[in-house]
Amino acid sequence: MVSCRCLRYTILALVLIIVTSAVAQEATAVRVNSIEIAKDVHLLTGLDCNVVAVTGPESVLIIDNGSSRNYESLKEEIAKLSSDPIRIAINTHFHFDHVGANQALGVDGTTIIAHDNARRRMMTEWQVPKTLGMSYPVIPPYPDVALPTLTFDHTLTVHFNGHEIEVIHLPNAHSDADVVVFVRDRNVLHTGDLYLSNGFPILDSYHGGTIDGLISALDALIDLVDENTKVVAGHGPVSDHEGLREYRQMLAVGRDRISALIEEGKTLEESVEADPLAGLYSQGESWLPPKLFIWTVYVDLARRR
Ligand SMILES: [Zn+2]
Repeated sequence: MVSCRCLRYTILALVLIIVTSAVAQEATAVRVNSIEIAKDVHLLTGLDCNVVAVTGPESVLIIDNGSSRNYESLKEEIAKLSSDPIRIAINTHFHFDHVGANQALGVDGTTIIAHDNARRRMMTEWQVPKTLGMSYPVIPPYPDVALPTLTFDHTLTVHFNGHEIEVIHLPNAHSDADVVVFVRDRNVLHTGDLYLSNGFPILDSYHGGTIDGLISALDALIDLVDENTKVVAGHGPVSDHEGLREYRQMLAVGRDRISALIEEGKTLEESVEADPLAGLYSQGESWLPPKLFIWTVYVDLARRR
């Protein structure tokens, strides 16, 4: 009974991701803005995720790239920062809203870097099974030109523009393919979707995401940064060490409350109804609906019982 419900809600969560993807691809181009958050390190906003560009004598490196529809807008904004092409693109993971411009970047000759599992996920066709009387589209693999050409397992250091840019894998957190990117000498960290500074996260439990892995990843990031680090979340405003600490605490309390509901024998619907995240997020409305977090944490915890 529990596993059946879990599967159903996993699917629902994934459907939301897919629907969001489809909507994003059909929308019109957006206005992209940039702000220099450290010397030669720029945050580009207005895209479907936070993009960081590192400029300098060896041309441009970007961290994440948003959706495909926004590539020209992204390039136009970067052209204001540098007359050089985008030479390296790092993917924090494989979700469409972070790597949607990979194909265009690949065509332009950009070297794309990601975790081994991100490339593997991008090569695989998948489909949400027919459920609740509804069918869902096949998600096709990315074309070869969009795939990361340089992948790694644990850590990678990119020596570029005079920086040692550390790319670090955190296992089974938001997914099984997450990396963070730390421009250590500029003290800027891009967390990908390990951290959303505008609300509750979602676990991609279909692709190896786990709540305990996510909390462990946040512990590692808290140890990695200092009080002055500019922390760029996957989505939301620039944050800091304290923001990471508060987020980690919020997720741990949320996990414990959801776990307690499972221990009580509550179904997923009953757990959502119990509103276990009440009072945990105090900065306005969460960008992603909190029930997505409840669903995916419930699925993760119930699966491991
Ligand atoms: Zn994601």
